[in-house]
Amino acid sequence: MKEFLHYIDGRFAAPATGEFFDNPNPATGAIHARVARGSSADIDAAVAAAKRALAGPWGSTSTRERADYVDAIADAIEARMDELVELESADTGKPVGLARSVDIPRAVSNFRFFAGAVRHSENGCHPMEGALNYTIRRPVGVMGLITPWNLPLYLLTWKVAPALAMGNTIVAKPSEVTPLSAGVLAEIIDSVGLPPGVFNLVHGFGGEVGEPLVSHQDVGGISFTGGTATGARVASAASSSFKKLSLELGGKNSSVVFADCDFEKTVEGVARAGFANQGQVCLCGSRILVERPLLERFTKALVEKVSELRPGNPADPTTNFGSLVSRPHQEKVESYVALGIEEGGEILTGGARPALEAPFDEGAFFQPTVIGGLAHDSRTATEEIFGPVVTIHPFDTEAEAVAIANEVRYGLAGSVWTSDLGKAHRVSAQLETGMVWVNTWLLRDLRVPFGGVKDSGVGREGGKYSLEFFSESRNICIKL
Ligand code: NAD
Repeated sequence: MKEFLHYIDGRFAAPATGEFFDNPNPATGAIHARVARGSSADIDAAVAAAKRALAGPWGSTSTRERADYVDAIADAIEARMDELVELESADTGKPVGLARSVDIPRAVSNFRFFAGAVRHSENGCHPMEGALNYTIRRPVGVMGLITPWNLPLYLLTWKVAPALAMGNTIVAKPSEVTPLSAGVLAEIIDSVGLPPGVFNLVHGFGGEVGEPLVSHQDVGGISFTGGTATGARVASAASSSFKKLSLELGGKNSSVVFADCDFEKTVEGVARAGFANQGQVCLCGSRILVERPLLERFTKALVEKVSELRPGNPADPTTNFGSLVSRPHQEKVESYVALGIEEGGEILTGGARPALEAPFDEGAFFQPTVIGGLAHDSRTATEEIFGPVVTIHPFDTEAEAVAIANEVRYGLAGSVWTSDLGKAHRVSAQLETGMVWVNTWLLRDLRVPFGGVKDSGVGREGGKYSLEFFSESRNICIKL
């Protein structure tokens, strides 16, 4: 069985405590790896290495040198594509087809994109009477990067690439639920010859590794993606030392379907928005609001579309629906379906664990589920489930659709489905979210601002927003 160690100061290192934890394949329950269980001693060692690296030659590398390193990492991920696809699927339960078409290619794109972005970035110059101001960007310092389990390599590399491009050093802490691809990323970074201490990886649990990282005095900033409750703890732990902070948190996103939509494309798009990655994407549209005249026809078509998703072996390239990430998460999703029934909802499809043959009968599978008949302000329809469960609700007017979409505490994303351009603009402008898609979902351009409002987070990542977050601007004023 493979063992995954920390990566500190350019070396793979056993945990200071000597303890490891088991990593199961969620589709079968079988233990397939052992992972170093980090502690504050490992964080101290990693932060010290990162601080030393910042003071060394890395601190004076040129933009071109850093961009070349970042490009080399992209090439090295691509060279290990097949291995990473299999590993990410085995660690998360997602179908290999999804890991091959989305997760791992996106990790490559993240590095390629930020290598290009930093090569082409510009700084400001403000001439004034008798003086010239110019602005340079300096790295923040040692950055703590904390990531969740749903898109493990995709989300970690979304932070590592811009942090390196801007010259920071890194202590990364992946989710303890899905740590394996981060371990391979450390091998890849080691293979491209990044100086020791520039990238460090410490595995382990939130309370044992995440907390000491966030509160460490020598860490200059934290980029955190995860749940809203954890984000609040991170924000409060980071505040006393005024760390730079980016928080990408939970969501409960609406798909707003108007009667004038392109019906077939909308059914397909809304189903994808609800169930991609088994509904475990922070951007998933799990509240489906449908203009009343279309409700019956749309619901029937959506249920038909969703029943094409068949839970099965994630390692089979023909599988279109994998397992959830863990047994505890399966139980959480199940408890929300029970709550939905208790709150008066009707299960229109799914609602239970599928009957699968061994060894998948021990897996964390759950059927894709559509619930109708619930109040739009019920707990099931407003709390983040983060699984394959959508609720469907009618509305009568544009204003009512906006009001229902905005009644949740979250404000990450939304989608609007209509063929009326004026309506698309009006509704998009009124949704209290960081992102809106019109007649599509999760169509990404890496230059655009990514992030949420309300309880979905603080700050934006993507393109120049990431380059700004991972640097401090310094203005230099020269008297002429
Ligand atoms: P989580 O909050 O439980 O864990 C996220 C990370 O934080 C993990 O690495 C965990 O070990 C660490 N952590 C836990 N306690 C900590 C602490 N006290 N201090 C520091 N770190 C700590 O989230 P999860 O269950 O892994 O992921 C699911 C959540 O992530 C969902 O709410 C989802 O919406 C959100 N998410 C948001 C985005 C986004 O871009 N907004 C993207 C993906 C996932």
